[in-house]
Amino acid sequence: MLANCNIREIPDQVGDDEPLYSIIFLYLSMSETKLFQSYKQKPNIDEHYDVICIGSGLGSLTTASILSRKGMKVLVCEKHTTPGGYTHVFTRNDYEWDVGLHYVGDMERMGSLLRVVFEYITDKNLKWADMGEVYDKIIIKDRVYEYLKGLQPWKERMKEYFPAEKDARAIDKYVELLFDVNKTSKGYFMQKALWGFVQFLASPFLGRGYEKFSKRTTKEVLDEISENEELKAVLSAQFGDYGMPPSKSSFVIHAAVALHYMNGGFYPVGGSEEIFNTIAPSILASGGNILIGAGVKEILIENGVAKGVVMEDEKVIKGDVVVSGAGVHITYNNLIPQQDKFRIKHMDEAIKLPQSYGHLSLYIGLKHTAEELDLPKANYWIYPNGTDHDKAIDLFLLDYNNEFPVVYISFPASKNPLFTEKYPGRSTIEIITVAKYDWFKDWEGTKWKKRGEVYDALKEKFAQRLLEFLYKYEPQVKGKIDHYELSTPITTKHFCNYLNGEIYGLDHDPNRFAKDFLRPHTPIKNLFLTGQDIVTVGIAGALMSGVLTASTITKSNIVGEITKAMKENAAE
Ligand SMILES: Cc1cc2nc3c(=O)[nH]c(=O)nc-3n(C[C@H](O)[C@H](O)[C@H](O)COP(=O)(O)OP(=O)(O)OC[C@H]3O[C@@H](n4cnc5c(N)ncnc54)[C@H](O)[C@@H]3O)c2cc1C
Repeated sequence: MLANCNIREIPDQVGDDEPLYSIIFLYLSMSETKLFQSYKQKPNIDEHYDVICIGSGLGSLTTASILSRKGMKVLVCEKHTTPGGYTHVFTRNDYEWDVGLHYVGDMERMGSLLRVVFEYITDKNLKWADMGEVYDKIIIKDRVYEYLKGLQPWKERMKEYFPAEKDARAIDKYVELLFDVNKTSKGYFMQKALWGFVQFLASPFLGRGYEKFSKRTTKEVLDEISENEELKAVLSAQFGDYGMPPSKSSFVIHAAVALHYMNGGFYPVGGSEEIFNTIAPSILASGGNILIGAGVKEILIENGVAKGVVMEDEKVIKGDVVVSGAGVHITYNNLIPQQDKFRIKHMDEAIKLPQSYGHLSLYIGLKHTAEELDLPKANYWIYPNGTDHDKAIDLFLLDYNNEFPVVYISFPASKNPLFTEKYPGRSTIEIITVAKYDWFKDWEGTKWKKRGEVYDALKEKFAQRLLEFLYKYEPQVKGKIDHYELSTPITTKHFCNYLNGEIYGLDHDPNRFAKDFLRPHTPIKNLFLTGQDIVTVGIAGALMSGVLTASTITKSNIVGEITKAMKENAAE
């Protein structure tokens, strides 16, 4: 397994102007197992590729891996200096933090499509650690509710919390609705691989049923099944996983997330960088290449046909097919050349689609192991204001001095069984809450780590407020924190290239699910989309976006092929 290469040793969140930059890349180029190359080191790049993927998020990597396994030579161009998109990790002062993966669901069930696809693209080299019986702990004011692994235990525990007959009926009805959405979702997502006349004929039929739920908000559905505000607040407490409170989110995204985790939470053994480390070898094996620090300036389009990419240094790299995994806003606003925008009928509609909120993330390092500190595996979802998630968000976005609407705490060092081996005597914690890009707009254009005292003071204020929550619920860590640093939406924009530092790409409101153009196929011949924006947010969404994009490009049933290949593999 190539997963033990030295990527994690590199202090990788490095600004363009850092003097360490070239030393790091020299080090990387000397590393024995090279899964990627630095563009700035001017590596030998082939004249021509079968496929060029923009961005190295999971959507792009999945597309690239599947196509590589079909013998195509794929180039992945990543703007950041660390590959993996939101699955990348960064290290500082001998600590490592994941950026956009705290838990993934549905990894245990035999035959789960997610698990089968992951096994396929990673050659079974990616392992998942179970978070145990409790995966989420909901705290409303000071009332604690545990989400238990497994449908029956989850339901039973909920009914213990809410024993009234009508609450128990509401819980049963709620679960029934989650499964109803799930049944209709398959057709809806399958039809995303179609286009043109076939799409015109088949989409209404395949998407039928899903629309009934996607048009409704989470709040509308919950209000219909219960009048108990506490119960509804508990049932919608994972809204942070899709970034929209109940009155704004479509019920389909709520249902997808709730069911996704119902069989427990899982964390990649070795940390989230193992996703990239275990997928990359398949891309290299067929003659492909993965470049970091390789920002694409524009897609090369000639007479309405994508022919390659123009890099930020104006170098042209040719490819038969171009796949953008950089998100809808970056792709349509920045990567389609001005003179070709007219070719995309839905351009105006696409660039007006609302983006999700930004976030603050506090990365904490401690000089004690997770075991010594007795840190839990379960995530905390803390709601200090009580049951009205919508009102809490509105008040906070109006004025950041108001109480946080939600505080999420994750304990990666407890979830990752290899953490102590990698970082003896240490552990990490992450705390996340919502933020508005506008609060930090004044620092647009300033340099990372050199944004000035006012910015640093604002961050420190947020950091201290977030730490209070950690001390309240895990008081034993007080006095043991060795390092902490806060990221803002400006940081997210800098490292992950989301225009407003948005946490989850496009908003998951009912309108999004009615947009037919959110699919791999685009009106530009040989240009395809992938990533969370064309399916849904999440590791699962991004993974399946890659499957859809590969299916669209090859005009084949990739799910069928993967399932068959993995069955044969198991039989051998
Ligand atoms: C804080 C946070 C916590 C999360 N927690 C979870 C979780 O616990 N579980 C879960 O399932 N999901 C979680 N997610 C969501 C999940 O990480 C994402 O939905 C998923 O990783 C998105 O993958 P993607 O392929 O769409 O693209 P991304 O991972 O966003 O990658 C896109 C890549 O494109 C690159 N790019 C952009 N423009 C260019 C360009 N011009 N040239 C070259 N490259 C470019 C970017 O640098 C980026 O690396 C979380 C996300 C965040 C931010």
